[in-house]
Amino acid sequence: MTLQEIENKLQPQFKRIEDIAYHNQKKVLDAFIDCKISSQCFNGTTGYGYDDVGRDTLGRLYAKIFGAETAIVSPLLTCGSHAISTVLFGLLRPSDVMLSATGIPYDTLHDTLFGKDNGSLEEFGIKYEQVDLQGDDIQVDKVIEKIKALKPKIVYFQRSRGYSSRKAFSVDVLEKVFKQIKPFMPKDGFIVVDNCYGEFVEKKEPSDVGADVVVGSLIKNPGGGIAPNGGYIAGTQKAIDKIATRFTSPSLKLEVGSYEQGYRLFYQGLFLAPHIVEQSLKGVYLVGEVLKSKGFKIIPDSNEPTFDIVKSVVFDTEEQLVKFVQTVQSVSPVDSYVLPLPWDMPGYEDKVIMAAGTFVGGASIELSCDSPIKNPYIAYFQGGLTYEHVKIFAEKINNLY
Ligand SMILES: *Cc1c(COP(=O)(O)O)cnc(C)c1O
Repeated sequence: MTLQEIENKLQPQFKRIEDIAYHNQKKVLDAFIDCKISSQCFNGTTGYGYDDVGRDTLGRLYAKIFGAETAIVSPLLTCGSHAISTVLFGLLRPSDVMLSATGIPYDTLHDTLFGKDNGSLEEFGIKYEQVDLQGDDIQVDKVIEKIKALKPKIVYFQRSRGYSSRKAFSVDVLEKVFKQIKPFMPKDGFIVVDNCYGEFVEKKEPSDVGADVVVGSLIKNPGGGIAPNGGYIAGTQKAIDKIATRFTSPSLKLEVGSYEQGYRLFYQGLFLAPHIVEQSLKGVYLVGEVLKSKGFKIIPDSNEPTFDIVKSVVFDTEEQLVKFVQTVQSVSPVDSYVLPLPWDMPGYEDKVIMAAGTFVGGASIELSCDSPIKNPYIAYFQGGLTYEHVKIFAEKINNLY
């Protein structure tokens, strides 16, 4: 099939994606207006950063957009994994239980949960339990049973797929599950959602529908491809107060934290994020449909909506997978001449191959791909700052297989 034919076929999905982007652009703009964002908010501070207006206002802006009471948004959270770890250590105390309702969390959290001799939650006497998914579904009855039996301080959800072949959860599905489990939650319990790759993919966020905390990475969706690093944590005042003690220290909480370079890129990235997410979503649908036309299985299928910016392709062989990842790198604006190879990476259990020819190091809101080397050979690709860029990649892929 020609790319034009494939694009024509995807028009219904593209229309749906454009409608969501328009809604979210308006939501973000309204929040900027409501929060009276001015150029002063972009100024950095040094040292302790007392009265850092840019930092505090950015937190208020995220809270508004995410339907939360308050938020921590900071370049001092080094990435999504650090932000999630900060949430867990902030909310959990010795002998507490954390229950994951969506199976095993993302690979880079395993050492945080139950690593040995590394300061993990387990070493602080915090118990971890999980209810596995059944196919693509949360086993709500089992989650409720465990909540009744264990009285967990955190019930944890991962919205995106991570390195699994499942689909991401829609906010509608999460809302239904939250409603079902809430009557059984302990009074001092928190619903925490790893929101990585989900921001602005739908009109609502998990924090709009009952999550106490949502957390994610600024080098993914909400950074809009512009934020240079960082993470965000948005939620109820009660939850964020506890998390703030861990983010800095119990004495300092959110009174400190400076960033001399200033905050413009975080604001501008957030403003662009609904559009960039739209570009990247259309792009992965296009590449996905090209691969589908070649007979590969893609997840989710192109006639289904998607609830994160990731598309998975199941290849038959390691060679096909490696070739795909190397092709991503070869059409990247940065480091196009570099040949990615499978490698051991910190925090990952299998060898991993990654393509990230990105302006912001490793930013997966830019066109990128990563895959653990294990059977079945699944490539997880995402991002693309412009649809046109991803289309150029799609043309290559259409000629490759
Ligand atoms: C990327 C990701 C993370 C971790 O974010 P980093 O910024 O890479 O540390 C956590 N959970 C999920 C589902 C992710 O996709």
